[in-house]
Amino acid sequence: VLRYLDPWTAHTGLTYTVTRVYESIETPFQRIEVFEAEDFGTVLALGGVTNVTDRDESAYHELLAHPPLLCHPNPRRVLIIGGGDGGTLREVLRHPTVEEAVLVDIDGEVIRCARQYFPKLAAAFDHPRARVLVDDGLAYVERAAAAGERFDVVLVDSTDPVDAAVELFTEKFYRSCKAVLGGTGVLVPQSDSLTFCMERVVDIHRKLAGIFGAVTPYAGHCLTYPGGYWAFMGATDGVALAPGRVDAARVAALGDDLRYVNEPLLRALFALPQYVVRALAGGGPTDPPSLCDRPPVD
Ligand code: SAM
Repeated sequence: VLRYLDPWTAHTGLTYTVTRVYESIETPFQRIEVFEAEDFGTVLALGGVTNVTDRDESAYHELLAHPPLLCHPNPRRVLIIGGGDGGTLREVLRHPTVEEAVLVDIDGEVIRCARQYFPKLAAAFDHPRARVLVDDGLAYVERAAAAGERFDVVLVDSTDPVDAAVELFTEKFYRSCKAVLGGTGVLVPQSDSLTFCMERVVDIHRKLAGIFGAVTPYAGHCLTYPGGYWAFMGATDGVALAPGRVDAARVAALGDDLRYVNEPLLRALFALPQYVVRALAGGGPTDPPSLCDRPPVD
């Protein structure tokens, strides 16, 4: 039996039973592995950690896209940094107000693998309202800011802060995002594990709070990411994310294809455990202690 271990900490991890290996390649940016696993379907691992599985991809992608798009009064232009599997793009395009969704991933090989092994996610790449670019996320946002481009929502669907993704967790990157949001839009980065990596969650929150007028954390269940409980943060100088802003009619208009979010759940995502509330309010040591083996960047 072939097993694949995704290490969550130095001592704990998620073990897949692999039934078929499709890809195992090294690109200039990362190691890409695609395989078929019992219970999880097709799995994409980048740098040795799970990025997408058939089983739970909908939860993560719906959590990243729908809270900011539903809280923004009229999201028309959306930028996705990373997200080369296409899942976040698919969710963004469900919103009829969105006229253009631009996806910028640094690694064209992730996009190629998505087209080959995750056709239901990759279908979004060919949507008439989608523009897919292979480019570095920080360089793209800096150029867009200098050119005076504007986006209503920026979603950071990145790998964890290692290798090429380190720059996507820096104040420099967040400031460039702020510039393209033009005072009204919302930035949401995926913001790490509330179970194992509170140091990073606190670090991302602290950086965003130093740059944006309002930062609203929320969280949901992502089965195959460390600890299964994942943070997101809505950062804005305009209309902040809030349970009361989730418009029931707009949720209903998204149709029957949603698998994870619904109106009551969207309102409940903002309720966080007390140890999280405490850590984000005061910093300091987290309880339970963080088991993250990698220090915050910057
Ligand atoms: N949901 C996933 C997770 O949390 O593990 C993220 C999935 S998505 C496939 C992550 C993408 O970020 C990868 O395709 C990777 O190529 C991309 N990425 C990493 N660093 C980047 C950068 N500096 N600019 C643009 N994309 C980047």
